[in-house]
Amino acid sequence: MSFDVAAIRADFPILSRQVHGKPLVYLDNAATSQKPQAVIDAIVDYYSRYNANIHRGVHTLSQEATDAYEQARIKIQKHFNIKKKQEVIFTSGTTHGINLVAQGFSNLLTSEDEVLVSALEHHSNIVPWQMLCERTGATLKVLPMNAEGTLAMEELEHVLSAKTKLVFVNHISNALGTINPIETLIEKAHAVDAAVLVDGAQACSHIQPDLDALDVDFYVTSAHKMCGPTGVGILYGKEEWLEKLPPYQGGGEMISEVTFEKTTYAELPHKFEAGTPNIAGGIAFGAAIDYLQQIGFDAIANYEADLLAYATEELLKIEGMKIYGTGPDKTSVISFNVGDIHPYDIGTILDKLGIAVRTGHHCAQPVMAYFNIPGTVRASFAFYNTKEEVDALVVGVRKAQMMLS
Ligand SMILES: *Cc1c(COP(=O)(O)O)cnc(C)c1O
Repeated sequence: MSFDVAAIRADFPILSRQVHGKPLVYLDNAATSQKPQAVIDAIVDYYSRYNANIHRGVHTLSQEATDAYEQARIKIQKHFNIKKKQEVIFTSGTTHGINLVAQGFSNLLTSEDEVLVSALEHHSNIVPWQMLCERTGATLKVLPMNAEGTLAMEELEHVLSAKTKLVFVNHISNALGTINPIETLIEKAHAVDAAVLVDGAQACSHIQPDLDALDVDFYVTSAHKMCGPTGVGILYGKEEWLEKLPPYQGGGEMISEVTFEKTTYAELPHKFEAGTPNIAGGIAFGAAIDYLQQIGFDAIANYEADLLAYATEELLKIEGMKIYGTGPDKTSVISFNVGDIHPYDIGTILDKLGIAVRTGHHCAQPVMAYFNIPGTVRASFAFYNTKEEVDALVVGVRKAQMMLS
């Protein structure tokens, strides 16, 4: 089946708008993706037809809302090939999922223990673990990166040991787009009995992870980077782990029985879902998965690989162009600088041309520190971007270069 990008673009209302009188060229997909009409409709439909609180009401609206929300959980379960539906915890997003697990380990670690983080992480996969180490006295170790923007796997034996209890790593780097060898990391971590949390926030718009095959202990992601709404995501955890971790927040929905003497907690997944959740968001997350499935992740991967190759080739023709993250396995993210022009200045000129890119440290200051730069310009492509948009970016960067040097 050929990939009809024009038809796909027509599914995204925002892509036809103008910015500063120019057609929008949206290349900030690593920060958040745009939303197809089907996802927008799912939200409108919920609020217009069956808005009600879930899991409690006997009335029809509440039952319809509960069914739709729980069906979304099952869609997500199937999409990620998760064994049991109670292993899918709805969260407000990746950051929430990581904090839930980090908080849960507070009583499971001692000052003798170590936890291992990769040098390529987003701040949200660093700071909660530093806070955990402060609470428990455990030591934070770092698996270094190398000049290609990939993990220095040859260093693993120096930082992973029988003392390591937890390893956390992103599946794909949001700053550089490089894909981490998580299969190897999971295998080596399990060999020393360490649990692994994978931050999939950047991965799930590009690939469809098979969590059963990966045998990962925890996997977190956000809907908003995969065509879904903001404020919703999932935490996958192996049932044994989720049983072991204490609840993250107390409140309604997460209890079995409450008296002033003692409260018993609800079964999974509700134990971790205190309070009224983002119901419309969960249902729309399901709609986003339906939408992506219908296009197909093989088609998405092929198309994006082409776009990445083309954009890399064209950008490298610009004098002074330096691309960070040159490892062989990467997704459609290009992080770059041109000569010594400040990334912010390039971003500002591109915006005047209708082109949206991200500039700065991309919530990954340690990665920028490694390269000894304040930040980069990051163009991140989705399956609805085109070669014409790549051309517009290249023209824009050349124009910025002329104006700024
Ligand atoms: C976006 C992102 C996050 C944070 O996700 P939120 O949706 O803001 O919680 C964490 N890690 C990576 C790799 C990301 O790309």
